[in-house]
Amino acid sequence: MEQDPTPAPAEQASTVGTTVVVVGAGLSGLIAARELMRNGIDVIVLEAADRVGGRAMSETTALGSRVDLGGQWIGHDHHRIAALASELGLTQFRMHTGRLPVVIDGHRRLSPAGPSMLLTALLLVGIELLSRIGTRERWNTTTIADWLRRVPGRSPRRLLEVIALTSWTADLDRLSIRSMTKMIRLQGGLATMLSTSGGAQESLLVEGAGALVDKLAAELGPRVRTGHRVTSIVRGDRGVTVATTSGAVLATKVIVTVAPPMARRITHEPALPQARVDVEQNSYMGSVYKAIAVYERPFWRQRHGGEFLVLDKPGRAVFDTTPPDGPGHLCVLVAGPEARSLDSLDGEARREAFLGALVAHVGPEVLAPVSWHEKSWHLDEYVGGGYLALPEPGTAEIISPVSWAPYGDIHWAGTETAGSHAGYLEGAIESGARAAFEVTEALQDPR
Ligand SMILES: Cc1cc2nc3c(=O)[nH]c(=O)nc-3n(C[C@H](O)[C@H](O)[C@H](O)COP(=O)(O)OP(=O)(O)OC[C@H]3O[C@@H](n4cnc5c(N)ncnc54)[C@H](O)[C@@H]3O)c2cc1C
Repeated sequence: MEQDPTPAPAEQASTVGTTVVVVGAGLSGLIAARELMRNGIDVIVLEAADRVGGRAMSETTALGSRVDLGGQWIGHDHHRIAALASELGLTQFRMHTGRLPVVIDGHRRLSPAGPSMLLTALLLVGIELLSRIGTRERWNTTTIADWLRRVPGRSPRRLLEVIALTSWTADLDRLSIRSMTKMIRLQGGLATMLSTSGGAQESLLVEGAGALVDKLAAELGPRVRTGHRVTSIVRGDRGVTVATTSGAVLATKVIVTVAPPMARRITHEPALPQARVDVEQNSYMGSVYKAIAVYERPFWRQRHGGEFLVLDKPGRAVFDTTPPDGPGHLCVLVAGPEARSLDSLDGEARREAFLGALVAHVGPEVLAPVSWHEKSWHLDEYVGGGYLALPEPGTAEIISPVSWAPYGDIHWAGTETAGSHAGYLEGAIESGARAAFEVTEALQDPR
């Protein structure tokens, strides 16, 4: 199956040849490339950044533990990632979690049985039902912000706003009710989406999700080329020429794993079909900021636990992501425009703002983490944001999942194209494996 698409003389100076080029070394691209390599197919992965992993990225803390700045949780039914972690010798652990997060609104805590929480719960049940029965046509343009304006009471409105922001990372005036309910349905329902135990946030990896991509990249070795941003893809009679900022590669097939709004920067010749152009032009990456504060031990467990929803601006969700035997990890997520509002602050100011709000609930120790790790994903030059690409109002049909029908010799992967668990690490693995299968079949039977 290994082919030798030797370039024409004019291309030889800067063009190398391979059978398959994978664009992007995120989880989906690395999975696709590893499958192809295992099938004996020549493959090169071209990655724009100077690191692999895309939306999966881990750091080592001052205490030697690992924290995830990107995707981290493994859902209760995310079997592919669980199997991959086990194959790569990584250790999965369950979240330490109470029944409900503490909701902080200014100086007070909202009572779980109080009117604000009950109304919020009722409205969430309504949204869940709506996601099952389907929405009217006009809700393709009615946004979450439009709907929130009609919710009575400041606290329930703000609570729903913070839940929506941290769940979808969208600008809420830029995500339609129809897109929201479609994503809820495809992500297994609201209860699954929002839950830790039995839901999408059930467990983590001690070594971090970044260890998955590091280990996959190590298996692929020199097949992975970082610092190679793909600028154009030209389909010709002799194959596909993939031009990068550091030379070109001539291949028989290409798998593009870049999320659609970021893939828009790659030019195509001849042009892509209008349906794919529409997806790239009518979607945008969510905005999200993530931080992890690290402590010698998870001292908050002696008091109320470490799960909070803070309604003060910027609204944020706080989770206890401490690995077994510590050290203590407190993870903070801020999303949508409120994540972008942090960009003008320095790291110290952000840290004080987040941790200060928790002093009254977990004690002053929270102000002195041993280390602090943070990333604003919407500022990442190549990833562009997270958790996933979102459809503009009026275009709910283009996404979740994005069509993965190959176009000529171009195949598509990336979590946005996953048939199940689109947006998750699980979806990235599914899409990478599916694209590798498609390409392997096509190479065996060129008809
Ligand atoms: C803050 C945050 C928290 C998250 N939390 C979770 C979670 O807890 N659980 C979960 O399951 N998922 C989570 N996700 C989502 C998860 O991380 C993603 O679904 C997954 O990592 C996507 O992988 P991918 O390969 O599809 O795309 P990406 O990781 O985006 O990979 C695409 C790659 O293409 C590269 N690229 C872009 N343009 C070019 C170009 N022109 N040329 C070459 N390369 C290019 C990018 O640099 C990137 O490396 C989270 C994401 C974020 C940002």
